[in-house]
Amino acid sequence: GQCSQVCPVGAITARTEVVDVLRHLDTKRKVVVCSTAPAIRVALAEEFSTEADFDFTGKMVAGLRKLGFDYIFDTNFSADLTIMEEGTELIDRLNNGGKFPMFTSCCPGWINMVEKSYPELSDNLSSCKSPQQMIGAVIKSYFAKKLGLSTEDIIHVSIMPCTAKKGEARRPEFVQKGKDGKDYPDIDYVITTRELLTLLKLKKINPAELPDDKFDSPLGIGSSAGNLFGVTGGVMEAAIRTAQVITGVENPIPLGELKAIRGLDGIKAANVPLKTKDGKEVSVRAAVVSGGANIQKFLEKIKNKELEFDFIEMMMCPGGCINGGGQPKSADPEIVAKKMQRMYTMDDQAKLRLCHENPEIIDVYKNFLGEPNSHLAHELLHTHYNDRSKTIQDMGLHEKK
Ligand code: SF4
Repeated sequence: GQCSQVCPVGAITARTEVVDVLRHLDTKRKVVVCSTAPAIRVALAEEFSTEADFDFTGKMVAGLRKLGFDYIFDTNFSADLTIMEEGTELIDRLNNGGKFPMFTSCCPGWINMVEKSYPELSDNLSSCKSPQQMIGAVIKSYFAKKLGLSTEDIIHVSIMPCTAKKGEARRPEFVQKGKDGKDYPDIDYVITTRELLTLLKLKKINPAELPDDKFDSPLGIGSSAGNLFGVTGGVMEAAIRTAQVITGVENPIPLGELKAIRGLDGIKAANVPLKTKDGKEVSVRAAVVSGGANIQKFLEKIKNKELEFDFIEMMMCPGGCINGGGQPKSADPEIVAKKMQRMYTMDDQAKLRLCHENPEIIDVYKNFLGEPNSHLAHELLHTHYNDRSKTIQDMGLHEKK
């Protein structure tokens, strides 16, 4: 994955980050919150338990609570939010004409690749921030307001399977103004799954021995479609589920039946019906690609017009985030397939399987954001991309301020 390119310097920053996080948890001078990506719970499940269909989410939350976090939120919530924003963007491009193919934007490894090697594709990227940055922006605005706090009063630790997420969090655009008019980052620290395991070990916490706990509210409910963001094809599957319902497709693909974009193949594709505003059903050509080499090969074919697609999900790590550079190392050659199967099983067993049915998502629009792609949603949840093909200084390695 992306990791091998960023590890040498990343490792040094990471050590200080773990120390800083420990200090915040111990001193509690600020409200310390965390959010956890889908891939973390399945990695911990593999580390601590052996039952193949065992959902470890409640134990993970219990472990984080014991570590001392004041609030524990679910990045699956903001994966659902991403689908609301990105699905609306896709439907808008279909109805009103916009750049196609449209590419997903939640993988910073992929975003770095576009900015450095394919800047001509910038307008094809969805303008949506990643789930990490969306929940960061919402915590430091919506949630801060609920507590009567300002952005600088909260320390937000994002727990990710990914080393590239550290660089993403440090992008200068992902900040909000504090009371003093200065910029404060939406995400204060990113720690990887491996670093979380280090913290748990240091504090002698074994989550498997703790009773299940629940995420805090709001921002603690996530659909199993959002959870699928952790595997290649999951963002696409979640987006199609919601877009089919929202546009009113007559016979939407039944849940779990979009098998063509499941599994570990590097390049997958499916045609899916969506409805335009004039009531016509159109066939959207969807593709899902994971792994840097596959992405390069695939983009060559797109450029040569050998392949044509409308909506494309890109993930830098083969298999998606379950196989991210920050995940625990395993000697088991089947580990990625096992984590993937665990996610599909979690989806099969879940009650909430559609992003737009998440009650906290409904609330955040009703009470705060208005509608998907509203002015405030654009301000907080969308971003822009830069052409970095001519600069070498920005490799995601710059020092923290
Ligand atoms: Fe990070 Fe996931 Fe992208 Fe890998 S696929 S670089 S883990 S966001």
